[in-house]
Amino acid sequence: MAAAPALQQMASLGRMAGALGSSLRLAQATATGSQAVRLADTFSKSLVDDIFACALKKQTGVSLKYMLDFGSKPIERQLILSAQFLHNELPVRLSHRVAELENLPYGLSAKPHVLKVRDWYVESFRELRGFPKVRDASDELQFTRLLQHIYRRHTNVVPVMAMGVAELKRELSKSIGVEDLPDIHQFLDNFYMSRIGIRMLIGQHIALHEPPVRRRENHIGLIDTRCSPAGVCQDAIDDARSICMREKGSAPEVTVYGDPSFTFPYVPSHLHHMVFELVKNSLRAVHDRFEDADDEPPPIRLVVAEGEEDVTIKVSDEGGGIPRSGLPKMWTYLYTTAKSPLDEMDRSNATEGSDGPSVLAGYGYGLPISRLYARYFGGDLSIISMEGYGTDAYLHLNRLGNVQEPLP
Ligand code: ADP
Ligand code: MG
Repeated sequence: MAAAPALQQMASLGRMAGALGSSLRLAQATATGSQAVRLADTFSKSLVDDIFACALKKQTGVSLKYMLDFGSKPIERQLILSAQFLHNELPVRLSHRVAELENLPYGLSAKPHVLKVRDWYVESFRELRGFPKVRDASDELQFTRLLQHIYRRHTNVVPVMAMGVAELKRELSKSIGVEDLPDIHQFLDNFYMSRIGIRMLIGQHIALHEPPVRRRENHIGLIDTRCSPAGVCQDAIDDARSICMREKGSAPEVTVYGDPSFTFPYVPSHLHHMVFELVKNSLRAVHDRFEDADDEPPPIRLVVAEGEEDVTIKVSDEGGGIPRSGLPKMWTYLYTTAKSPLDEMDRSNATEGSDGPSVLAGYGYGLPISRLYARYFGGDLSIISMEGYGTDAYLHLNRLGNVQEPLP
């Protein structure tokens, strides 16, 4: 290889790993070719070479607005264009993740659960690369079938990855928690953010593909052009309260303040996910604090505010708040003050579960993943606590939708 391209290659791999703080390690590994050692144990050399070649390509982001404009008339030609875009783009995104999964610090890459996740990524990469060029409607149909298959394969990435990290957590000495490993958290943030993007793109294509009779009113793929935040919040509240009832025997009330007729374009499943997590946290805090009190617990208040730029949802509770020292930990993965279901989960069965854990608390993933969903479309999530009183969570959703996907 000529010196200049080799340098370029190292520079771009370095940028890719920069977030991990391991650019040097990765660049060195690339220089010696040793980054592929473990992958090469399992997969053919041509596949491994292809993965690392793709990992050097830049990912292409899209915005909510673009997805809306693009999908407004899902005619055959458009579906073919979408398939062609995904056929190019998905291998690039997947290969970036494989390269990262191969180079995690603290031996995380060698954990069996992490290897399993890596192999799913490699397998999907291989299938996409092996798929011939999409030229017409019949190719597009076949390609959509492949996308459905890939979408299902990656369903349990979050819990399986969590088990790998939990394993590392157990191994580390008691004095150092996973929350003290910033590079692992940066990696997980990037990794899950990327996953949200990949699933959004695939999910959008699959949904656009639905025949017109099965398409939902006001929906462009996964996007509801008339999404009512108050309505979605009410559904999320009902789901969270029923879990609280089941686990704790009762559930505090939640009052919604907001105009149910107000709508804006958003992905209801993302909104549901975020509000569900916030409300579960509040229910748990309020329930536990008032468990032995004579009076009814004070209701949780959920406010939907319509701004020009943002729709903001505030969830306020009187659950006693969080000590200020604990606030940064809340954004780390696996930080929880509840008993972790991961400790008991039969590891071999864990892959059979569903995407979202349906327990009140204990994974420690609720807040960090919700913040990623918010940021994915240009919003954010912040938590303000008054220790001794309660917590306010502010979920900001960008209304304009013209923010590009953040691409780690
Ligand atoms: P989990 O709920 O699985 O523990 P989360 O990421 O949702 O994970 O929350 C992490 C931790 O932050 C919780 O275990 C809890 O200690 C604290 N927390 C989150 N929201 C609240 C709240 N509204 N009131 C009090 N503590 C909270
Ligand atoms: Mg939670």
